[in-house]
Amino acid sequence: MSKYLLEYSSDVVGSPILSKVIVETGVLINVLRADIEHDKASIVVDIPHDEDRVINRFRGSGVTVRKLQENIKRDIENCIDCGACISLCPTEAIYFTEDWSIEVDKGECILCEACVLACPMKAMTIQEH
Ligand code: SF4
Ligand code: SF4
Repeated sequence: MSKYLLEYSSDVVGSPILSKVIVETGVLINVLRADIEHDKASIVVDIPHDEDRVINRFRGSGVTVRKLQENIKRDIENCIDCGACISLCPTEAIYFTEDWSIEVDKGECILCEACVLACPMKAMTIQEH
């Protein structure tokens, strides 16, 4: 899974660029997170294949594209397996294992930071790969 941040300026935020890129390339782009305002937007997407072709289409339409080189990291020394982060995770990327310890499926994480902000032990951080 390759995650990218699409940044729309006020010039292009009103255009259906994402829909056009999907139709024109045939690549089913998965939206992981979207912050949309009247004058700008930031959208995190997963581009499953043909990344260069898709990225060039976005850039040609005036959208800034940045590959996300970050991932969620759990500090196992500080985590007390309290489970507080599990229900907050919008993608169910965090779960209990059979021995009731916490695991994180990084492939499912959309970097929303909900667990980072909620963890009482500050055990979750978003770091570069
Ligand atoms: S909220 Fe923090 S301490 Fe609790 S299980 Fe999640 S990462 Fe561990
Ligand atoms: S940042 Fe934390 S809460 Fe958000 S998707 Fe990733 S694991 Fe889940």
